[in-house]
This record gives sequence, C-alpha cells and structure tokens, in this order.
Amino acid sequence: MTLKTGWVIPLWLLVLFCVASALAQTSSAPDQMPSVIQVPPEARATTNFDAQAATNAYLAQIPASAKARSDAYFEGGYWMILWDFLYGAVVVLLLLNLRWSARMRNLAERATRFKPVHTLVYWLQYLVLTTILIFPLTVYEDYFREHKYGLATQTFGPWMGDQMKALGVNLVLGGLLAMLLFGVVRRLPRTWWIWGAVVTNLFLIFVVLIAPVYIFPIFNKITRLDDPKVVNPILSMARANGILAKDVYQIDASRQTTRMSANVSGFANTMRITLNDNLLRRGSPEEIQSVVGHEMGHYVLNHIYKGIMYYLIVTVALFACLYRGLDWTLQRWGEKWQIRGVGDTAVLPLVILLVSVLGFVFTPIDNTFTRAQENEADMYGLNTSRQPDGFAQAAIHLGEYRKMSPGPLEEWVFFDHPSGRNRIYAAMRWKAENLKLFTGQ
Ligand SMILES: [Zn+2]
Repeated sequence: MTLKTGWVIPLWLLVLFCVASALAQTSSAPDQMPSVIQVPPEARATTNFDAQAATNAYLAQIPASAKARSDAYFEGGYWMILWDFLYGAVVVLLLLNLRWSARMRNLAERATRFKPVHTLVYWLQYLVLTTILIFPLTVYEDYFREHKYGLATQTFGPWMGDQMKALGVNLVLGGLLAMLLFGVVRRLPRTWWIWGAVVTNLFLIFVVLIAPVYIFPIFNKITRLDDPKVVNPILSMARANGILAKDVYQIDASRQTTRMSANVSGFANTMRITLNDNLLRRGSPEEIQSVVGHEMGHYVLNHIYKGIMYYLIVTVALFACLYRGLDWTLQRWGEKWQIRGVGDTAVLPLVILLVSVLGFVFTPIDNTFTRAQENEADMYGLNTSRQPDGFAQAAIHLGEYRKMSPGPLEEWVFFDHPSGRNRIYAAMRWKAENLKLFTGQ
C-alpha cells in the first residue's frame, strides 16, 4: 500500500504539471482592458462638464467582453468563499471524526514531553496534512482559475515553488503562534480568551513589522526605484503630507500576476512606499500619482493603528465566542474525538472550524470596515494628488479583476473597496467641483 501511494502523488503532480503547462500557454487573453486609458472627451475640463456623463464615458472605454470576463471572475469569487468554507469544514470534520487529530497528538507526545515542542510537532503534522488535503482546491483557485482569466503569469513549476515557500513561512509563523496560544490557554484556563486575543494581536503587529524586510523578499525582489520622473513627484507629495519617506521601492509582482497595486507598509521609522512593477509599466504618471496619494491617505489617516484597535475588539469577541463554542462542542463530542480539553493540541481542527464559521458570518462586517477606510483613502488621495483622471484610469485597470458596477447590497456584502463605478464617479465629482484647477481660470 505504501508503494502504491508513494507512486500516486508524484504521478498526480506530473499529470497536473502537463495539463497546467498546456493551459498556461493557451491563456493569452484577448479583448483586454485598454493598456493606456485616455481621458474621454466627456471628461475633459470644459464649462459644461458633467460628473455623471464623464463617469459613463470612462466606463464605456471598457470592451463588453472584458467587462463580462471580470464580472465572471469576481462573481465566481463569491462562490469561492462558500466552497473554501465548505471544503475546509469537511477536511477538519474528517480529522476529528476519523480521530486523525488525536493520533497526531499521540505521535507528538511520543516525540517529546516538552509541551511547546509537542505543540510544534503537532502543528507540523496538521499543516502538512491539511495542505495536501486542500491542495486540489488550492490548485484550482490559485492556479487554473487565475490563468483562465489571464491574471497569472507563472508556469506550474514556479507556482509550486511559491506554494512550498508559503508552507515554510506558515510552518514557522503558525508554529510560533500555536505555541504561544496553547501556552496561554494552559496557564490561564478562565481568562485565555482575553489574553489569547491580546497575544494574537501583538503577534500580528510583529508580522506586519517584519514582513517587508523578512517575508516579502522570500517571494519577490524589492528594489529601490531610481527613475526621477516617477520618484520626485511622489517624494514631494510625501513631504507635503508630512511623511518621512526618503525612498520609493518597487516590487516585481509581475512574477506572479498581472494585477496592479501599491502599498504603504510599516510604522513610524519602518514606513515605506512600494509600487508594483505592473503599475509602473502600465500606469500613466497621473495614474501612479493618484494611487500613491491613496496609499499616503492610509498612512496619514492612521489606518494601521485604527485597524489594530478594530482587530483587537474583533478578536476578543471572536475568542469569547470560541471559549463558549469549544466548551459546548467538547462536552458533546470531545470523548468521541478523543480530545481531552481546550489545552489539548488535538482540539486545533475544531478551533479552525469554529473560527471559519464565525469568519464566514463576519465577512460583510469586515468588508464594510475595510471599504470605509478605502473610501477615506480615496478622498485623501484625490485631494493630495489632484489627479481625478489618473484615479479613474486606475479604477479601470483594477476593474480587470473587480466587478465595476455591482448592486448596492452586493457591494455591501462582498466589496472590500468601493466599486470601480463609485470610485470613478467620486473622482469626476471632485473634478467638477475643482474645475478651475484644470481650466487655468
Ligand atoms: Zn487602499
């Protein structure tokens, strides 16, 4: 039997590899969004400028087939939330009911008597096993689906390489967090839900701090941007907004994806602005400035600190639900699953199940918190970059993977950024109300 399974996995990977390579070659995307987006006549600064007409003119630049494709991609994403949740739930229920979780715990206990190492050994087994069980869904969602919509640039080999690197990062960081949290639960059986939330947040802050220097470079090359045509306007915007950035960085995101993006990361002295190379290659100077203005908005409006406060409250509430939920579930099925209690590492699949149920229900609230911050950053970006047309161009480029014109309820539930249509309209309204900046009067 071991011989058989020993053969099956490499064979399966080989078949996947061939199919994936063939698929990747046929996915050159027709009818793409226009690469350079022009300012349509209706959006030019004239005395009869109308924000709604300008918005419609921008949206009309998107070919019907490109719109259909990005709508299909984004709407498919709604279903992916459900399939990810259901598939994950089946996997953890299997681990519990077949008592594989209890067996992994027993094996970890045999390996060592030192509790933190025991947690780490359990985590290692859990992560590798669940990664393999979820792999069919991962390869569909992150590889085939991304290629089908022309968003991925990697062939199967390098993609698989990145998956292995991510597994390594998860082993280390997840293992560290698991050791910390099980330590808290064992020492503070009544109040772990408060202290567990605090530890989780401190850990997240630590990860955010080290990520630009220690984690991102594992997957991508980050270099200092030297082109003065791009850098100088950005640095002068930074100075005008009291941001202490001395350099601008670029990241070779095109290794994995065609998506455009930028970000501001870190706190205080570790703060840096990073643009991805897709944005630098395809974005007009006005577009780049509008995007950077948006990112500066996140920084100046203290969105990182507000986000930390928000997540602290959310995680305390989450851990409180977990405290009750674990108690209730373990009383009923703990014996059947051979889980001794909350401090037993074998409880982990149950924790993951309860967290994903809560996370699933919580999606619209989380999206709304993020979307509100994104909207604030949009307004800040318009005011500081004064590039409404650049911002409209960026919204169209981002529309390659986001639905441009959702219904209001759809936007509330599923969108973590304002929709493309709303972003273009906000930019055109800003232009209408600041028309004198563009007419030279
Ligand atoms: Zn943003």
